[in-house]
Amino acid sequence: MAKVVLKQVTKEFNGQQVVKGLDLVIPDGSFTVLVGPSGCGKSTTLRMIAGLEQATGGEILIGEQPVNDLPPGKRDVAMVFQNYALYPTMSVYDNISYGLRNRGYSKKECQVLVEEIAEVVGLAPYLKRKPSQLSGGQRQRVALARAMVKKPQVFLMDEPLSNLDAKLRNQMRVELTSLHKQLGSTFIYVTHDQVEAMTMGDQIVVMNEGQIMQVAAPMDLYQEPDNLFVAQFIGSPA
Ligand code: ADP
Ligand code: MG
Repeated sequence: MAKVVLKQVTKEFNGQQVVKGLDLVIPDGSFTVLVGPSGCGKSTTLRMIAGLEQATGGEILIGEQPVNDLPPGKRDVAMVFQNYALYPTMSVYDNISYGLRNRGYSKKECQVLVEEIAEVVGLAPYLKRKPSQLSGGQRQRVALARAMVKKPQVFLMDEPLSNLDAKLRNQMRVELTSLHKQLGSTFIYVTHDQVEAMTMGDQIVVMNEGQIMQVAAPMDLYQEPDNLFVAQFIGSPA
């Protein structure tokens, strides 16, 4: 079953089209990776799904519901940003629970949820700290926990590991993959890194210059690239 569908989605900035009529089906429960060179329109596409950018044309559906006119808070998605976007003066606990405040949860319910999620992402010992007292990996986990606590059906992640060093990045790749299995929700993950795409995704969407070049499972993409761009970008044997 499809979780997110894009139909002829376009985006213009200042009269210039940067997303050029995307047609895409993202299966429920998939780990879909949008990959492509810098500037090809990955973030813009993700932001349109999140509702942080309005599509210029076309239609976006989430769980079969047209969402073009829905604000981000009504879309049942949660986004994890590259720069974490944490509140520096708030504790880890408050950063995680922030999104729950206006959802009508009691203080106790918030606490149960936050502690449960903190356990899953390994933050339980750090709930009283400020972001400045955490390592990069721990900050990334806070950003993740803040998305998880909303229990969205769709997670949107824009290069969430790009600020981490290579070792931690590898570790977090493994953790995110197993988190995806555990949650069973749909992940849409943006990266410019082919290796990251191929190791994490079960459906890879290769983009270039605002268009989709191919959608396939990693092995199919590698063994049967549709065109030269995909072959060269993925590094398939010629
Ligand atoms: P990617 O995430 O693949 O690197 P983006 O989606 O960020 O690419 O950007 C796609 C194109 O749209 C780029 O040419 C970028 O300069 C342009 N762009 C993105 N956001 C804006 C904006 N807010 N205003 C004007 N141009 C933008
Ligand atoms: Mg980007």
